[in-house]
Amino acid sequence: YDDRDGWIWQDGVYVPWREAKVHVLTHSLHYGSTVFEGERAYEGQIFKSEEHTKRLHKSAELLDYKIPYSEDEINSAKKDLMAKMGFTDCYIRAFAWRGSEMMGVSAQQNTIHLAIAMWEWGNYFADKMKGIRVTMSKWKRPSPETIPSAAKAAGLYMICTMSKHAAEQEGYADALMLDYRGYVSELTGANIFLIKDNVIHTPIADCFLDGITRRTVIDLAKARGFELVERHIKPEELSDFSECFITGTAAEVTPVSELAGHMYKPGTITEALVSDYDALVRGQLTLS
Ligand code: PMP
Repeated sequence: YDDRDGWIWQDGVYVPWREAKVHVLTHSLHYGSTVFEGERAYEGQIFKSEEHTKRLHKSAELLDYKIPYSEDEINSAKKDLMAKMGFTDCYIRAFAWRGSEMMGVSAQQNTIHLAIAMWEWGNYFADKMKGIRVTMSKWKRPSPETIPSAAKAAGLYMICTMSKHAAEQEGYADALMLDYRGYVSELTGANIFLIKDNVIHTPIADCFLDGITRRTVIDLAKARGFELVERHIKPEELSDFSECFITGTAAEVTPVSELAGHMYKPGTITEALVSDYDALVRGQLTLS
C-alpha cells in the first residue's frame, strides 16, 4: 500500500503517500502501542465520524497516552483529507502511535504521532450476500484483566492476524474466536449475531470490541421491533441457530453461510438488517 499516488495527513501536514514514513525504532513498531480506527464514508459523509474519533481518543487513554489533537481537529482533518483526495466513498484509517526518541518498553517522553490515510475499498468480502465461510480459531480473546479489550489497539490484533491467516490457509474467509471463558466472542475484524426462532442473539461485549456497527445494528433491530438479546453464547449452541451475520465498518453487515461446521442461510431478519444498514449509512434512513 505504500506505492501509490495521494496524500497522507501526518502530524498536521499533508505528506505525499510514498513519503509517509516512520523511523524503524518507533516504539509502536516494537511494543504494539498504536491505536487506530477504521471508518467508511458513503456519498461524501463519514459514517459516525465523531464516534470513531472519540473511540480513538479513548483507546489512547487506555494505553496511557493522549493524542495531541482534539476531537474537532481530527474530525476536520478527516473531512479535509477526503476533499483533497477527491473521495466520496472510501475507507478511512486514523491512527496514533508512540514515536522513536527513546528505545525501550517505557517511552513516556516519546512524541505521540497521528496520521490519517484513506483509500477506495469496496466489499470486505467478495460476493458477500452469498454468505461467508467461517472456521473456529485456536486462539481465544483474553480476559479484560489481561489486556485493555475496549481499546482498538494494534497489540490486540496479533491473534486476529494469526487466526485469519490460519483460516485463509484452509480456504475460509475468516475465523471465530472464543473468549477466555470459552464463550463465542468475535471474528478477527467483526462482531457476530445469531438468530433462532426470530430472536437475535449476540455476545455481551465484555472482553472484545463493542463495535460501532454492532451498536448501530442493535438500534436498527430495535427500530424494526425485532427481539434481541445480549448474552453469553456457548459454542455448543451454534447448531441451534438458523441465521448468522457479522458486523463491522469494513464488513458492514455480511451474512455467514458456515460457522465452525454449521450451515446457515440468510433469512428475512438478516436481509432486513443488511438493507437497513445500507440505507442508514447512505442517509436514506434515519434512526430516532
Ligand atoms: N471486532 C474487531 C476485532 C474489529 O477489528 C472490528 C472492526 N473495527 C470490529 C469488531 C467491529 O468494530 P466497528 O463496527 O466499530 O468497525
